Amino acid sequence: MELIPAKLPLFVKWLFPKYVWNISTEEKVIYLTFDDGPTPKITTWTLDVLEQFQAKATFFCTGDNVEKHPDIFQTIIEKGHAIGNHTYSHPDGWKTSTETYLANVKQAQSIIKSQLPQDTTCNLFRPPYGQIKKKQGRILMSLGYNIIMWSVLAIDWSEKTRKEKSLKNVIKHAKKGSIVVFHDSEKASENMQYALPQVLEYFSEKGYRFESLTSKSLLSN
Ligand SMILES: [Zn+2]
Repeated sequence: MELIPAKLPLFVKWLFPKYVWNISTEEKVIYLTFDDGPTPKITTWTLDVLEQFQAKATFFCTGDNVEKHPDIFQTIIEKGHAIGNHTYSHPDGWKTSTETYLANVKQAQSIIKSQLPQDTTCNLFRPPYGQIKKKQGRILMSLGYNIIMWSVLAIDWSEKTRKEKSLKNVIKHAKKGSIVVFHDSEKASENMQYALPQVLEYFSEKGYRFESLTSKSLLSN
């Protein structure tokens, strides 16, 4: 039994209305996101598969991995995907003091910014585990970050999730404007490699396209 629901329960969205849980749109667009990379094991593969379907996505990178794999990070940018901050070392906001947490985000931000083209900014943030204290969120928003949560989880990271279930989680729940979470991490690679191509194929055939989260998409909310 998996305790985390693949589809976000509505009350969570009501509790935290200032965070971004989906994009309001009547168009057939899905926003795929990939957390915890870049990693040599899976990120390049992910980029190749996205390209086959002319899909754009958003990569929430940890500062630590950007520092370790700057070449893969550059490829994500060159392929036209969006970048988000996912902290430096993946702390759990609920268990971390606000001061320490913000310092961790700042550390990631300076590494990410140093590697982005000069005229680009990174104003997307996703809290690891989706766990962030209200105060942490409030301060990050005052600093100009959009806090990006999700509407659908593939739950690809869990050893308890079979790959068929990861696929079904997305096929069953994604719809217009959904923000879907995958992971380009080693841990999730088996489930993700199984689910992602089929998700792209399934929704492409239904007339959907896949876009990255941009200021434009966020403004429509
Ligand atoms: Zn993460």
